[in-house]
Amino acid sequence: MMTRRDALKTTALATAACATASSVSTLFAQTAAAPAGPFSLPALPYATDALEPHIDARTMEIHHDKHHAAYVTNLNKALAAHPDLGQRSVEELLGHLGTLPQEIQTAVRNQGGGHFNHSLFWQMMKKSGGQPSGDLAKAIDTGFGSFTGFQTKLTEAATKVFGSGWAWLLLQEGKLVIESSPNQDNPVMKGVAPGAVLLGLDVWEHAYYLKYQNRRPDYIAAWFNVINWDFVSERFAKA
Ligand code: MN
Repeated sequence: MMTRRDALKTTALATAACATASSVSTLFAQTAAAPAGPFSLPALPYATDALEPHIDARTMEIHHDKHHAAYVTNLNKALAAHPDLGQRSVEELLGHLGTLPQEIQTAVRNQGGGHFNHSLFWQMMKKSGGQPSGDLAKAIDTGFGSFTGFQTKLTEAATKVFGSGWAWLLLQEGKLVIESSPNQDNPVMKGVAPGAVLLGLDVWEHAYYLKYQNRRPDYIAAWFNVINWDFVSERFAKA
């Protein structure tokens, strides 16, 4: 026969079980309720192993499916209470950060920056990237002396980023310019037209650590093999 003490114990256990069950269902409810939009994760334009051996498949998978996905989810969360802002493009939001409600500025800067930067980054790479040609090749020679000169300058900018960030190739007043930025910042946040951002190199450790560990310069050197120069040329022609 169950004593009063046992009965109390059973009740306590049942209550604890219910509490666990309810917090699990709350968790699922929150996941399900995470806003599906307005922004969504673009698919990679190639298979995750397309850039092997320079960028390994596992890195591409985690980088795109986890890191980029998280930027999108968190950007949507930040905008959930501001449906009007969700109507705007991410470029528009980034170009006017100072006009956004104070409480979401940091989130849009970090998560929106992450979304914009990675959306471009995937397209800026392809298998057997080759070398630039035509007008872009000429502009690179004019701006940096030679392709090697350009490579040296971009490598330098990317190597010097302390911690996480990006190195960029921009078109500014008809000239090619190399810059870098910390975190998920980008030139659009400083007023550069989105189309003038020609090329971006992600030097966050998540972009290379699995294969290259602390050897960022090796990753940068390898990355030059997978630059999608057709894509960069198209942007250059439009800008
Ligand atoms: Mn990244």
